[in-house]
Amino acid sequence: MRMKLFTSLLLMILFAGEGLTAQQKTGPKIKTIIVDAGHGGTDVGARGRYSTEAQLTLEISLRLEKMLLEALPDTRIVMTRRTDIYHNVREKANIANAEGGDLFVCVHVNAAPGIKHRELTHYKTVTAYKGKGKSRKKYTKKVPVYKTWTTPNPRYGTSTYVFAADRMDEKASGILDDERFESASEVVDVPDPTSPEAMIKARLWSQKFFKNSVRLATMIENEFVQSGRKSLGVLQRNEKGIWVLQATNMPAVLVETGFITNEEEEDYLNSEKGQIEIAQAITRAVMNYKALIDAPKTPGAPTGKTEAPVLSAKDPVAIPREED
Ligand SMILES: [Zn+2]
Repeated sequence: MRMKLFTSLLLMILFAGEGLTAQQKTGPKIKTIIVDAGHGGTDVGARGRYSTEAQLTLEISLRLEKMLLEALPDTRIVMTRRTDIYHNVREKANIANAEGGDLFVCVHVNAAPGIKHRELTHYKTVTAYKGKGKSRKKYTKKVPVYKTWTTPNPRYGTSTYVFAADRMDEKASGILDDERFESASEVVDVPDPTSPEAMIKARLWSQKFFKNSVRLATMIENEFVQSGRKSLGVLQRNEKGIWVLQATNMPAVLVETGFITNEEEEDYLNSEKGQIEIAQAITRAVMNYKALIDAPKTPGAPTGKTEAPVLSAKDPVAIPREED
């Protein structure tokens, strides 16, 4: 009797365990989504005429949080910040990892430096010397005088970044002069991306999360296009600025929601309409991505694989510059 009871108890426990495992296997894979409002606090990020990147990323991220909670009520949404505070990227990655995130979405605002102009106005005569000692001679020469000024960079559009994990051996300082999409304060306290540890981490990230990051990035850019925005594409980079993506143990994307340095886009990024459209586009993409990843895989069924072309920021074809 006692043996029978023990056996049935054991069986119950075993079945209960089995049931749980089966449920876990068929349950959603994406249970926690981390939303990271880029910059914050002392790190204001890029600046426009009247707004800052830190302020805009927080406003957009809070709208995104609300929309994701409505669209995906069974999913936990974790914000890296909900106020104007500063975390360095290492802290942001730590939050994402500690919360057990299944997806990491960074919201940023892009910037392009003003365009420098130079115009010859006149020549002036200056006195110069040549030779040394006794042979030193005074002479005059004419030098050009230029007028210089800067005009706002008209560049606009969205882009979504994934970490260029397979390009670790390339020069880490790949930041182009006109591409200061991260402020210097955000890249402090970041390990050298060419260190052996970082390279191992990057390779691991590449194997596990790169494909899904590109999938989501592609979906986000497609949604932006659907909402009438200009997409600069899915790009990959490996410099310190987006180290945070590589340091997360989950697929991760960094969304550049528009250029604060473009007057029209700064207005759009500050408008309720613009912020809602941006948050909606990201929400729709995350919903589609989650549906794709959570769908039970049946043998022989199409995987829904979308092989997106990943462009390099260093590739001149990748970023159309119609204003140049
Ligand atoms: Zn930024």
